[in-house]
This record gives sequence, structure tokens and C-alpha cells, in this order.
Amino acid sequence: MIPPAGPMPAVEFSGVHAWFGTTHVLRAIDLAVAPGETVVICGPSGSGKSTLIRTVNGLVAHGAGTIRVAGVTLDGGAKAADAVRARVGMVFQGFNLFPHLTVLENCTLAPLHVRRVGLAAARALALGHLDRVGLADLAGRRPAELSGGQQQRVAIARALSLEPDVMLLDEPTSALDPEMVGEVLAVLTDLARGGTTLLCVTHEMGFARAVADRVVFMDEGQIVEIAPPEAFFDQPRHPRTRAFLSRIL
Ligand code: ADP
Ligand code: MG
Repeated sequence: MIPPAGPMPAVEFSGVHAWFGTTHVLRAIDLAVAPGETVVICGPSGSGKSTLIRTVNGLVAHGAGTIRVAGVTLDGGAKAADAVRARVGMVFQGFNLFPHLTVLENCTLAPLHVRRVGLAAARALALGHLDRVGLADLAGRRPAELSGGQQQRVAIARALSLEPDVMLLDEPTSALDPEMVGEVLAVLTDLARGGTTLLCVTHEMGFARAVADRVVFMDEGQIVEIAPPEAFFDQPRHPRTRAFLSRIL
């Protein structure tokens, strides 16, 4: 057996395609995200960014190719999908907290039911994650009593509650009022610098430049360009990347 060249990727796409009906939305995606790496995905609306990250936890089934998460191959079966979902944290644009549960209960739900840890241990872990996002003192509140920025920080703490191998974030600041974007990006920066593996769709190019290890540009279901931020922003190679950056920067 030939030994692997490096550590096992946290997420690995090889030759991945996806279709919605007859619409071909992911085309031959090859991407390996290393443990501890922060990869930012950008690109125009409809280019397949959400679909790409949703394939990682099986929210969207890929039609061809291979996706491996922490060594588990998503083969279309429920067993692999469950194993992967227990290893992946997901943060959406719209927070998606459970409105009837407190902040703490939102963060203990998955450990109690997926990991089957005891209540005291689940609470202690959740309070640790809430402290990490600066919200331990609001543990008893309900989501409606929090600002949008605070709700998104709770959603990040909830996603951390399973101690995932990779965090998927789909435009985590796009639904926020401008004054709340910074507090969420500060939490993500702290996670990235602390070694959490992040695969993040965002148009916050300042964040991408400062925090990403690599930036991916998608267009029409393909990865058009992938490079470290300095090269990506200062010397984009593909005309479509240049056109996109000139529109948004
Ligand atoms: P992005 O996140 O980059 O804006 P998406 O991944 O949401 O792009 O969408 C990629 C393409 O797939 C678009 O053409 C979109 O219209 C289509 N699409 C996304 N979700 C669905 C769905 N549930 N059913 C049918 N088509 C979809
Ligand atoms: Mg999207």
C-alpha cells in the first residue's frame, strides 16, 4: 500500500458533479481542504457555492464523483450520511436557531441526541462554546431576545457543539445589519486562528484576505481559480476572476 502523502484531508472532493433535474450545477469539482485550513469560496450568485457546501453534509446529493469527510465517503447511504453529519458543523445565512429553546438548549440539543453525552457534560461543553463566542452570559435567553449578530454567534457555538472536523458556513454575515458583521467575523477569525477547519462562502473580501489560507472563485458550477489570498487578490489569473473582483471590490 502506498502511504498517503500528507495528513488526511478534512474534506475532499474529486470529480464531483451535481444536478438539479437537468440543471448541471457542479461540474468536475476537485478540492481538498486540509485539517486546520480556512478556505473561502466566492463567486457570482447562482454559481453553485451553496450547493457545493451543502453536498458536504448531504443536504444536497452529488450525482457523480467522490466526497470524503474526515475519511468517510458519502456513498448515498444513510449510515455514511449520519457519520458525516456528526462530524460537520453548519452555519446558515439566516441563523436557523430553534426559537422556543434557550440559547443554552440550542447548544446542548445535538450533543444530547447525536453524541448521547449526559446533560451536565453537554451544558458544560455548550457554556464553553458560548464563552468562546462571547455569549455565556446570555445562555438563558431565547433567540428573539438577541440581536442578529448575537444569534449568529449562538449558531456558531451550536455548530461547534459537536466538536466538528469541519465547519461549513454559507454567507454567515449576509443577513446581518452592517454594524453586526464585524462581531461575527471576529469570532470566525478567532476560530480560524485557533485551528478550526473552515469552509466558508462569503463576499467579505477583507476577511478572505486577512484570514483565508486559500480563496476559491466559482463560476457556472466550476472552480475557476484557487489561490492563497495575496495571489488571488493581487494577481488573479483568470479573466472571470478579474471581472468578478472588479465588480465587488
Ligand atoms: P450560489 O450559492 O452560488 O448562489 P446555488 O448553489 O444556490 O448558487 O445555485 C446553483 C444553481 O443551482 C443555480 O442555478 C440555482 O438556481 C440552482 N439551484 C439551487 N438550488 C436548487 C434547487 N433546490 N432546485 C433547483 N435548482 C436549484
Ligand atoms: Mg448561495
